[in-house]
Amino acid sequence: MSDFGQIKVLVPRCICNINESRELYVNSDGFTPLEISWNGGFVTKIKSIDIDELDEVKRILFPRFAEAHAHFDKAFSWNNFPNLRSDYANALSVNLEEHITRTPKKVIKRAKKSMNYAISNGYRAIRTHIDTYLSQDEEIWNEIFNLRKEYSNLLELQFVALAPLEFWSTLNGEILAKKLTQNNGLLGGVLVPPFNKDIHSSLSHLLKLAMKFNLGVDLHVDESSFQPGRGMKLLLKIIDKLNCNIPITCSHSSSILLLKNREIHKIGKRIAERNIKVIALPLTNFWLLNRDQNNNSLQRPVAPVKQLQQSFVDVSIGSDNVQDPWYPFGNFDPFYLMSHAMPMLQLNPWDRLTLSAFLNAPSRLLGLTWDGILSVGCPADFVLVEGNNWGDIFSNSIKRKVLIKGNWYQK
Ligand SMILES: [Zn+2]
Repeated sequence: MSDFGQIKVLVPRCICNINESRELYVNSDGFTPLEISWNGGFVTKIKSIDIDELDEVKRILFPRFAEAHAHFDKAFSWNNFPNLRSDYANALSVNLEEHITRTPKKVIKRAKKSMNYAISNGYRAIRTHIDTYLSQDEEIWNEIFNLRKEYSNLLELQFVALAPLEFWSTLNGEILAKKLTQNNGLLGGVLVPPFNKDIHSSLSHLLKLAMKFNLGVDLHVDESSFQPGRGMKLLLKIIDKLNCNIPITCSHSSSILLLKNREIHKIGKRIAERNIKVIALPLTNFWLLNRDQNNNSLQRPVAPVKQLQQSFVDVSIGSDNVQDPWYPFGNFDPFYLMSHAMPMLQLNPWDRLTLSAFLNAPSRLLGLTWDGILSVGCPADFVLVEGNNWGDIFSNSIKRKVLIKGNWYQK
């Protein structure tokens, strides 16, 4: 294996940080042609390419991606546990049926399948939630932690223990929290309507436990089409009361969209002030929420990406479920995600903030050492796709090559 090389590629201009004395040429889709050299797994030189050499440049470069929100413990379980009603309530009920059949062997098999797809499709890191119940088999967690070490050269893994909120007030909750501190883990839970009276104290306990062990928290918040923003408001209230400053992520935050724009900006400002990160998950939201079996409604609650970004919230866009009761499609492919999410949310691929949500914000969210901005000294960790405009990426079955630490990845 040689870990040096050179390529001529097009790169989205807004993810380049390079020193060039002349102004860079940028085409109408926002790509700039560059010659990139690497050695020892890191980029050593970046040079602009003259316009008259553009015909030679037939590939587009992206940094390897980071997936902000996955569930690889249940991925590819759709065949045995389909949710043919395709709504949230039935997804939850089929999920519970599936959960009682789980064994460490099944979970590891799904996890490995997910990771192998993810690596060859171009991911370098994944934050995945793992269902955790009061009776959760400890063995599953031990094997999952081992998997993290096994794949560490190819993929960085981060785990969120997705438990009922009250789990974090139990002794088992405290034991698992301690283990998560040693394994790059976070505490997770679900904060959606209907809100019962115990939720306030369970959520306070969860945040206090996270503060005690200095752990991050990632919650499924307001994944719903009613009681808009109520989970987020409750969370903000408790955070203020506890003066809690651990890293907090709000996944989904879907029903916020149903608030008035003025209120969205107001809540966005509070989210930004508390440095809370938001992950929009349009694929599952569009599939599951506000379904009417007889009519099409275009009212789909999904985190208001643009309004939140305008309020300076760091928003990531993630995939969520893959071929399980919550979502029947997908295969851990960042280009599948982008090609669906951009038209759904009317996000232009040539805008900096759009690419930030897919490339840089997830890297920051996962605390990766590289935020995905191309510069001299950055890792030679890239995905190369054949083509020279966004239409080539989103219209065809794409041809890609993955470079990991300066070496071309082979399955
Ligand atoms: Zn999820």
